[in-house]
Amino acid sequence: MMKSKYITVDLHVHTALSACASVKNTPKEIVKNAISRGLDCIAITDHNSALNIREVMKEAKGTSLLVIPGIEVETREEVHILSLFSTLDDCLEYNDIVKYALGDRENIPEFFGRQLYFSESGVIEYKPLLSQSTSLSMEDVFKQVRKLNGIAIPAHIRRRYNGLASILGFIPPELNIKTIELSRVNYNKYKDIYSEYNVIVNSDAHNIESIYGSPSTALKVERFDVEEILNMLKVKLTDEEVIVY
Ligand SMILES: [Zn+2]
Ligand SMILES: [Zn+2]
Repeated sequence: MMKSKYITVDLHVHTALSACASVKNTPKEIVKNAISRGLDCIAITDHNSALNIREVMKEAKGTSLLVIPGIEVETREEVHILSLFSTLDDCLEYNDIVKYALGDRENIPEFFGRQLYFSESGVIEYKPLLSQSTSLSMEDVFKQVRKLNGIAIPAHIRRRYNGLASILGFIPPELNIKTIELSRVNYNKYKDIYSEYNVIVNSDAHNIESIYGSPSTALKVERFDVEEILNMLKVKLTDEEVIVY
């Protein structure tokens, strides 16, 4: 058996497909910067879409960087939930569900920002507005993600906008949540009241410069692969297994 080791993770990174993210967040730049900043693993989590993940995975192929496919879905309650999967296929299956549940507004690039889709045939301006709520309830999201063996992690839960705890005032016990995310700015203030959960901190990077800053998260893994990381976050870990530093 491999000896366990710590890996550095940033499980919430946006590409230029998210209207609010910089157009410089290209698959190439994200991978390059994640590696040069010493990250072992990133999750790509654009708003309500998985379209750029294939290209990021292609860039990371043959490098030391592990890429987890994901989507930051916005529920009908306007809560943001990171949905992470073991395989791109599972994530794309979920993407179809999210796409169907998305409203039919179109993006206005001058107002919301551009949505760049890095397709196999080149860069495309993606038309449907991604940064809006879907018709999926929180319960729907947890059910669908678990059906595809993924994990749903409520994002920036104390953020006034789109944070689960800010919107509901509590974490619904019936969702059986084990891992939550706090924003960097909220970590020290709130970490102690969520000690019954695995509390992780990610960059929520909308520009290249904010990938992997402080505080960040490290996990003690037995195996360095996506399934191992997701399986860990599905159970309550010890203070030694998950570290925010
Ligand atoms: Zn968010
Ligand atoms: Zn985000």
